[in-house]
Amino acid sequence: MYDIIVVGGGPAGLTAALYALRAGKTVLVIEKSTFGGQITWSPKVENYPAIPSVSGTELGDKLMAQAQAQGAEFELDEVVSVELDGDIKRVKTDFGASFEARALIIAVGAKPRAIGLEREAELIGNGVCFCAVCDGAFYKNRPVAVYGGGNSALQDAMLLSDSCSKVYLIHRRYSFRGEAKLVEALRKRDNVEFVLESTISALHGDGELTGITVADKSGESRDIAVDGLFVAIGHAPDNGVFSQFMELDEAGYAASDERCLTKTQGVFVAGDCRAKRVRQLTTAVADGSSAALAACSYIDNL
Ligand code: NAP
Repeated sequence: MYDIIVVGGGPAGLTAALYALRAGKTVLVIEKSTFGGQITWSPKVENYPAIPSVSGTELGDKLMAQAQAQGAEFELDEVVSVELDGDIKRVKTDFGASFEARALIIAVGAKPRAIGLEREAELIGNGVCFCAVCDGAFYKNRPVAVYGGGNSALQDAMLLSDSCSKVYLIHRRYSFRGEAKLVEALRKRDNVEFVLESTISALHGDGELTGITVADKSGESRDIAVDGLFVAIGHAPDNGVFSQFMELDEAGYAASDERCLTKTQGVFVAGDCRAKRVRQLTTAVADGSSAALAACSYIDNL
């Protein structure tokens, strides 16, 4: 049995592991896809204090190496069911393993939100993408569109404009939610066209994306030929498996107190899957440390 199981190996989960290990606890981190989490999709992180610029992949690798050096154990597997009522928390995984701990920290993050258009599902991987870092290279010297107005969309557009022939940045508003500095840098790029106050209303292509239809706020439509569409319209939390043991808000984010404690004793939540106002790398690692210290104190008082 472990002292703490952390579900999710992104910045929140790995920081939680680090703090718990340094408090002398044993820790297992279970991650279903990529250790480092969503941040590994960021080509450049330039808003993490004391690190002027770092790639998301490098940051993710370092977070993992740091937790590993402190003695963290890792499992690449998906948690598919949990028993969290009693003093011993049990999780079962997709590969059929089961693990026990005295406390659980849920740091499962959020998954990219789809647009919800007809044929979107069949075009995912055939022109419709959610990660410019992962898939951008396939569109070298080809025209692409990026959809969204947050930091992910702006960063994707920056990265893609380095190698794609043309980048249409499509956003439903005139002003951006993402950083003004990124918007300014994009405006200076010759191959970036801003398509503002507009939404994507249709996807075209038979088996592979060949273009999109964009409607502006006056209702006028325009077809744009693109080989790739990078969707960056935010994320939805991934709390499903744990929902019975947490209070979820209407969008599915988990409520918790300042210690990151959920409604279930010994079960804590950290990072983007937690209900809060600001979802940043800095707030994810802050949650990780709060959740870990609260979990340690909970275990010490069992
Ligand atoms: P976000 O900040 O939530 O932005 C989502 C964007 O998509 C918004 O502009 C939103 O428009 C738009 N949108 C949402 N639903 C839509 C829909 N149905 N149709 C069309 N547009 C839609 O998401 P994000 O960019 O993925 O970023 C998530 C968090 O991670 C943010 O806090 C962000 O700052 C952070 N982040 C940080 C870094 C870093 O370098 N540290 C990198 C990437 C992301 P409205 O503005 O109109 O609502």
